Amino acid sequence: MTDGPEYGFDTLQIHAGARPDPATGARQTPIYQTTAYVFRDAEHAAALFNLQEVGYIYSRLTNPTVAALQERMATLEGGVGAVCCSSGHAAQIMALFPLMGPGKNIVASTRLYGGTVTQFSQTIKRFGWSCTFVDFDDLDAVKAAIDDDTRAVFCESIANPGGYITDLDAIAGVADEAGIPLIVDNTSASPYLCRPIEHGATLVVHSMTKYLTGNGTVTGGVVIDSGKFDWSASDKFPSLSAAEPAYHGLKFHETFGPLAFTFHGIAIGLRDLGMTLNPQAAHYTLMGIETLSLRMQKHVENAEKVASWLETHDAVEAVTYAGLKSSPYNKRVSKICPKGAGGLFTIALKGGYESCVKFVDNLEIFSHVANLGDTRSLVIHSASTTHRQLTVEQQVAAGAAPNVVRISIGTEEADDLIADLDRALNAAR
Ligand SMILES: *Cc1c(COP(=O)(O)O)cnc(C)c1O
Repeated sequence: MTDGPEYGFDTLQIHAGARPDPATGARQTPIYQTTAYVFRDAEHAAALFNLQEVGYIYSRLTNPTVAALQERMATLEGGVGAVCCSSGHAAQIMALFPLMGPGKNIVASTRLYGGTVTQFSQTIKRFGWSCTFVDFDDLDAVKAAIDDDTRAVFCESIANPGGYITDLDAIAGVADEAGIPLIVDNTSASPYLCRPIEHGATLVVHSMTKYLTGNGTVTGGVVIDSGKFDWSASDKFPSLSAAEPAYHGLKFHETFGPLAFTFHGIAIGLRDLGMTLNPQAAHYTLMGIETLSLRMQKHVENAEKVASWLETHDAVEAVTYAGLKSSPYNKRVSKICPKGAGGLFTIALKGGYESCVKFVDNLEIFSHVANLGDTRSLVIHSASTTHRQLTVEQQVAAGAAPNVVRISIGTEEADDLIADLDRALNAAR
């Protein structure tokens, strides 16, 4: 099919990027489990290596199964191109890599996945990069944190774990004014609930490990490019605007236009960093995405029921679900994610840390795991696990205080989930 804008999301999530296999007619996208591809002749090989012709060389760079997924993700997010990577964390590095250099920094929201806080506050320092964390509800603080060396602004659409919703349009305005790209981690929302590019994002990153695959079988990530950023408007992004010595002085932006970031991601990023998604993982993810909208609707419907019920339970101090009228972020749902606030939120227990530990140990349907976005309902006590590396101050800022449990609502029967939670809450008193 042609992936025209006339097709709706439910159609594109099944068909975008996937064509019957030209060799066999296979209707499902085959797993092209191959490392290399035969060149037609020496001239063809030279053209591929010079980026004069697009084609398959070696699966660290490109693979047909992975390419189908890239096209599907670019389509669903409304971007021009995408680069799949081995994990969500790999996608974050791949998004930053063409923009950054030693001495450069990013400005990021305090409300992020715990692993991202660690990656940005610790690990990227080894590359000479740094990150300033600020409260993204305070636009003046975001503006003040941006300096001449800032190369990107980074936030999550619906932030893990708190269910906090970022005012993407406002943040995109600040990034625009500073002439730098906005990168949005859209993992917790998925493109079904939120399309950050429509709110001004330049790049969108995902952990495909979560809702996109949707069943806890894959580790994967992706960077999607809106194709809208002018990399040559300043001298801030020489990897994209200036001559690249490894390709005989080729200038990515001048040569590939809106596809500059995507081509750089494959021809330099995957080639040299090697954080490649394998074809089997791409296949599982393609299968998962076929039912994304159906699952997200059920995640939202269940989360609304369960969060409303939890709010009335006397062992529960607070519920952060933005879909609740009581949430300070409820107003942003209609603007940022009008189909619902997702399936992820936290609860604070009156009994504190001890109660949280007993609560997670007494659940039956819910599994205590470091994952989210599965068809199965999951919980985690963030303070003792994913956010353990952070100080209590950082934990509180990230919405993962010691008395807080993160809940990822699955697609089971809502009444069964409520009964399970009730049993465990009563046992935890
Ligand atoms: C899980 C997660 C990541 C990291 O993804 P991996 O696939 O585990 O590397 C990044 N951001 C968010 C919001 C996540 O939930």
